[in-house]
Amino acid sequence: MSAVAASAASCYQPPSIAGDYQELDQKQRELLALAADLGRSKFAPRAARIDRDAVFPFENYADLHRAGLLRICVPAQYGGWGADFATYVMTAAEIGRHCGATALTLNMHVSSTMWTGFIADDLDMTPEQRDNHEVHRRMHYARIVEQGKVYAQPFSEGGAAAAGKAPFGTLARKVEGGYLVNGKKIFASLAGAADYYGILCTLDKPGATQRDSLYLAVDRNLPGVTVSGDWDPLGMRGTVSRTLLFQDVFVPAAERLMPEGLYAQAALRWPHMFATLSPTYMGIAQAAYDFTVQYLRGEVPGMPAVKRRMYPTKQVAVAEMKVKLEQTRAIFLQNARCARVDPSKEIRLGLYSAHYTVMENANDICRLAVRTCGGQAMLKTLPLERLYRDSRCGSLMLPWTAELCIDRLGRECLYEAGERDEPDAL
Ligand SMILES: Cc1cc2nc3c(=O)[nH]c(=O)nc-3n(C[C@H](O)[C@H](O)[C@H](O)COP(=O)(O)OP(=O)(O)OC[C@H]3O[C@@H](n4cnc5c(N)ncnc54)[C@H](O)[C@@H]3O)c2cc1C
Repeated sequence: MSAVAASAASCYQPPSIAGDYQELDQKQRELLALAADLGRSKFAPRAARIDRDAVFPFENYADLHRAGLLRICVPAQYGGWGADFATYVMTAAEIGRHCGATALTLNMHVSSTMWTGFIADDLDMTPEQRDNHEVHRRMHYARIVEQGKVYAQPFSEGGAAAAGKAPFGTLARKVEGGYLVNGKKIFASLAGAADYYGILCTLDKPGATQRDSLYLAVDRNLPGVTVSGDWDPLGMRGTVSRTLLFQDVFVPAAERLMPEGLYAQAALRWPHMFATLSPTYMGIAQAAYDFTVQYLRGEVPGMPAVKRRMYPTKQVAVAEMKVKLEQTRAIFLQNARCARVDPSKEIRLGLYSAHYTVMENANDICRLAVRTCGGQAMLKTLPLERLYRDSRCGSLMLPWTAELCIDRLGRECLYEAGERDEPDAL
């Protein structure tokens, strides 16, 4: 073996995001390999420009469509991969490793196929609702599978609704043949880029509550739909999460992504859906660790081959990062495998803990990476400073910000369903 071949063979080989490959089934292996290949060859080289210019990664979406990844969670009978929750989140984490903004925006798109797919299959519906849902989802899936259409998931409004504490302020009034929609969505990832905005609104009727929410796909070209505001944030810049305004937008009834009122049941019975934001950050944590090992070994492409691995303090720091990374991966994978309809209380508490851990540890692992690699490593020509900024965004995302996970955990650890304390005596 030549000296060059010998040194190439002994380079750090980034491991699978999903731990031991032997535990994966055939579909999981195929999807992970596809995501790793696209991520390494296409997404990683484009990530710096997308971040610098804060532009949507259109080229990555053309690649995702070609590779069939836009239909990862479309049920197999409609031409998709039919990936389950665990398979999806592992694949999403692999994409997040190479471009956080691509993984986070892809999650918005894929969520629309999970809500309407395996989650809807688990919900109680009347036979009429079920038939109606089949007709509607067939149309949405055909758009994705045959035409590569992309769906966004703008739920947030800047009030208490995105945290699940109030009905959505965006209103849908029933009219002949559909709904008239009025309202505003903030932080709408894929604003101006998605073909359809999958919005949550409240049926406009007296005394409406969260149970009257409605999940509608709004064609971005409909009259009355506008994108506003600028976009120059700290991180996740390629998500282009600008504001959407809906003014007297007529949305045909066929654009219902779920039967009226069903979203509330879905949100209550399938809470793992809210943790689909964390795979992106699992990927970012892995990427920060990978970078650190490569940097300390003197193997970062384009950098002088200076080794820094012989210093005991660096070794301790990498060990600390590895411990945190493996803790994060373990809870991430365990949570992925526990996902199901009507999870037990213990699974739900584990879910909050997992989501909190991934979001907070991703940022902490990036912090350690910057401190360990040192000054040259945070130059904008290298990915680490972007990973650091992107990682900060995870625990800010509703409905399960780090704070709200802690709120829920504290309360649900101490109270059983229906329990309350007597008000203090005056
Ligand atoms: C990069 C990025 C992309 C995003 N993309 C999307 C998207 O595509 N779709 C979408 O719907 N949203 C998206 N969001 C929005 C996100 O989920 C939040 O809605 C958004 O960050 C709102 O921030 P805010 O400061 O207005 O939250 P606020 O509601 O003002 O909350 C501020 C903080 O107060 C705390 N808080 C809020 N409510 C409560 C409560 N009831 N009890 C106790 N504490 C509370 C939370 O910890 C929260 O962090 C995105 C956000 C980011 C950062």
